[in-house]
Amino acid sequence: MALRVRARCPRCTQPLPGDPRWETLSCPDCHTRVGPFTEEPPADRPLERCPLCGGRALYIEKDFDRSVGVGLVVAAAIASVVIFAFNGIAATLFLVAFALVDLAVYYRLPFRAVCYQCLTEYGGLPMNERHRPFDLAIFESLRQRRLEAEALTDEPSKAENP
Ligand SMILES: [Zn+2]
Ligand SMILES: [Zn+2]
Repeated sequence: MALRVRARCPRCTQPLPGDPRWETLSCPDCHTRVGPFTEEPPADRPLERCPLCGGRALYIEKDFDRSVGVGLVVAAAIASVVIFAFNGIAATLFLVAFALVDLAVYYRLPFRAVCYQCLTEYGGLPMNERHRPFDLAIFESLRQRRLEAEALTDEPSKAENP
């Protein structure tokens, strides 16, 4: 399996084109700079921490492109309407078959690891047994900590008024 990396802007969560392993990516909206990696992630071992930001909190999710999934469902819906015009039972059978195939494919999909801090996705690596699906509580507490750290580095004049 080959490692696939997709970076997001940590500020506005926009997916960034390019590979942060080798180059510095810049967000087109807020110009936050991302990368490059300080170390190459292992290709045969699960991630212990994010090679981009060093964050140790990572979560796992199914490794697939959501837009492809939505596109397939829309295509199946259109196809079933067309089939329905000819034969109602065939259309129902088609939808049931599609749902079963969909389910089977989903369960066979590998997981990818995502960094809570910088939202970079790492696909194609073995799964770390310690990693769990996304947890909003962890995400919020890390975000809070980051905001506090940012507020501290800001100039005093920019600090919020009571
Ligand atoms: Zn941005
Ligand atoms: Zn990270």
